Amino acid sequence: METRLDRYAGAKESKIAQLRQLIEESDNIVFLGGAGVSTESGIPDFRGGEGIYNQESGTKYRPVDIISHTFFMEHPEEFYDFYRRKLLYPDAKPNKAHKALVRLEKQGKLKATITQNIDNLHQAAGSKTTIELHGSVFRNYCMECGKKFKLDYILAHEGIPYCDKCGGMIRPDMVLYEENLEHENVDSAIKAIKKADLLIIGGTSLTVYPAATFAQFLKHDKVVIINKSSTYLDLQALLTIHDSIGEVLDSAIPKRAPSKKTASGSSKTTGTKKTAAKKTPAKKTTAKKASPKKEENEKKPAAKKATPKKATTSKKAAKK
Ligand SMILES: [Zn+2]
Repeated sequence: METRLDRYAGAKESKIAQLRQLIEESDNIVFLGGAGVSTESGIPDFRGGEGIYNQESGTKYRPVDIISHTFFMEHPEEFYDFYRRKLLYPDAKPNKAHKALVRLEKQGKLKATITQNIDNLHQAAGSKTTIELHGSVFRNYCMECGKKFKLDYILAHEGIPYCDKCGGMIRPDMVLYEENLEHENVDSAIKAIKKADLLIIGGTSLTVYPAATFAQFLKHDKVVIINKSSTYLDLQALLTIHDSIGEVLDSAIPKRAPSKKTASGSSKTTGTKKTAAKKTPAKKTTAKKASPKKEENEKKPAAKKATPKKATTSKKAAKK
């Protein structure tokens, strides 16, 4: 029978030693990460004290409203103004957490990195199998013809970026409020978790649907939580470490594979490809975490009336 490792007592060092041990014993690890992974690269999260939601938006609108499908369609200029000021961090660099995960992947142990972040830092660090639940600001596409554009194009233009082929409006391939996650990404994430023998959840307070529910797909309780603040899963997790995700992963993941040959893992990139998706780039409020699904539904009607059809079509085109 699995005995729970000591969650409370014990210095950071002993917890890291426990994590190291768990990693050594596991061959199919999945990492699920949130904003806390990126804050250590200087990218603010959405909800934290210094988070984007608590900052002045610089407009009469609230940040949480601006990052919605309806707002984007109705006020693209204001959206892009806010977007460029608050959501784009083209100079951010991967931190210790991203790099440690790449090591683990190269050692053949980490099978998937599932992220709620839209900043491309896992890929920038070298991760191969990344599932971006909320899309990425590094990918953009024309809503009319589907032509794809890199972030550079957005940065090189002011105001609303338009397609240089057909003149259509370009949108980021990220999931806005009221939009749904790309099914394929969610399926890939769940599939990976079902096969995992260890799930490491880091840098997320687990209040965001659907990531908050992913742990239920594990057939065991081998969950490690690394987060500065507590999460609802803390008490059920095998090991909980309230500390910097970068520091912890860097210490716990060996610089080189222990002994046997590295099986330099996978090279699929589920989720990096498309994603013209939907739903939120960030989280629901804590107060609503009890029924995140409900909030999702509440917001749906608004999404319907917008132009999801069109978006879907262009998205398809973009995939070709
Ligand atoms: Zn176009």
